[in-house]
Amino acid sequence: MRCSLLGTILAVSLLTSAFPLSAAVAAEDTRIEETSSKTAKLLQELLRFDSSNPGGQTLGQAEYLKKLFDAAGAETEIIVTPSGQAHFIARLKGDGSKKPVLLAAHSDVVPAERSGWSVDPFAGVIQDGYVLGRGAMDFKGGQAVFARAVLMLAENKVPLSRDVIFLAEADEEAGEYGTSWLAENYWEKIDAEFALNEGGWIFQNGAGETTQVNITTRDKIYVSLKLTAAGKPTHSSRPMTESAISHLTQALAKITQWDTDPTLNEQTREYFRALSRTAKEPLASHLKKLAEGKKPEELREAGRKVVELGDYPLLWHALMRNTVAPTMVNAGIKENVIPGTAEAIINVRLVPGSTPYEVMEQLRKVVNDPEVKIELASGMTDSEAREYYDKKTNAPASPVDTELYRALEESSKQVWPKAEVVPALFEAGTDGSAWRDRGVPVYGIYPYPLDNETLERMHGNDERISIRSLNEGTEMIYETLRKVAGR
Ligand SMILES: [Zn+2]
Repeated sequence: MRCSLLGTILAVSLLTSAFPLSAAVAAEDTRIEETSSKTAKLLQELLRFDSSNPGGQTLGQAEYLKKLFDAAGAETEIIVTPSGQAHFIARLKGDGSKKPVLLAAHSDVVPAERSGWSVDPFAGVIQDGYVLGRGAMDFKGGQAVFARAVLMLAENKVPLSRDVIFLAEADEEAGEYGTSWLAENYWEKIDAEFALNEGGWIFQNGAGETTQVNITTRDKIYVSLKLTAAGKPTHSSRPMTESAISHLTQALAKITQWDTDPTLNEQTREYFRALSRTAKEPLASHLKKLAEGKKPEELREAGRKVVELGDYPLLWHALMRNTVAPTMVNAGIKENVIPGTAEAIINVRLVPGSTPYEVMEQLRKVVNDPEVKIELASGMTDSEAREYYDKKTNAPASPVDTELYRALEESSKQVWPKAEVVPALFEAGTDGSAWRDRGVPVYGIYPYPLDNETLERMHGNDERISIRSLNEGTEMIYETLRKVAGR
């Protein structure tokens, strides 16, 4: 197993009751290998609740968290959704001189294909300095980090100028009763001046040093498109070369062999410019060309080089463009019938500034087949869709001149002195829109340094996070909360 962390000296126990820990972090060369910590132990417990979405349950996890926060003296509450899932809310009371800060970390996880795992994904296994399990990084690891940081405020009796709200929410990985439902029905319980959620990445270089902290201020825009191919239905004993299925499969083949051109906006240009400052040559020059480039061929070449040479190829490939991914195929009603229609879903993630309509136009040219219809998969009418996507694409990023953003920046530099802190676009989606849509800034972070191998296990097999990263993340979030909510 290749791992940039092994061979380096791992973190000393950061999560004992003695705090602050900045001195321990500075003394990096005296660290001993970390085999456990309070955050890692909490994560182990959280992983043992099978909260798969669909099929699992978040109520047990909410009850477990409630006990921890009750013992710490927080105000706590479980809100059960009409579908029987659970949102857990804990509030540490401040003196009320400032509006609350909220930390949201979803409890549900995507299902695990057990046959592909080397350990039980719901056993909370610790191995070689890592915690393994479904949700270890998305996002039970973050839930453990956020929970420990908030609990430490209580344990260390830090006087607070504002309430600190911890939310463990359900239905993030899909479902009707996620944070939008919670905001519609219980807004006063989750209203805040600003919020933290999942989102940005903390990058490590090959030597295990943390080089960049991304704090996401916006998410890409989620769109699904439907491809429908038509043909003549008939008996399968007399096949023809042309059918709905042949039209659809040829269209999908063309789409998978094609790639969109890089499409950057002001934020992603700034992002790649920042990456160029900490990258080595020749990658640094290509990143700069990508950030500054104007002509499509310049951008295409720079983008290709960045993906080829970069440490996080799939992530950077996605951040520089509108992505197009076929995800579902559906055709046929019976083994011996050639069907008259065949359908596929193409999931698209747009860089803000782009619209689904321009991607649909590009796809029509690529497919170049009048028998294949391309439309939005949602049931919205054309005018509803145009209004919805106009609003999404024009929504501003969360501002970076707030107390919370500054606290994240300062604490990151405290824990990772060599890292640059950069506002970023999130390549996927989160449930942060419940706040952003109401004008509450939301900052996204996966609060642990990770390498590309760890990143690519997200939603995959043997998902894991290192204990050292969990500990550093806990310190960073704790320091952030002390700055933003301490008196
Ligand atoms: Zn997530």
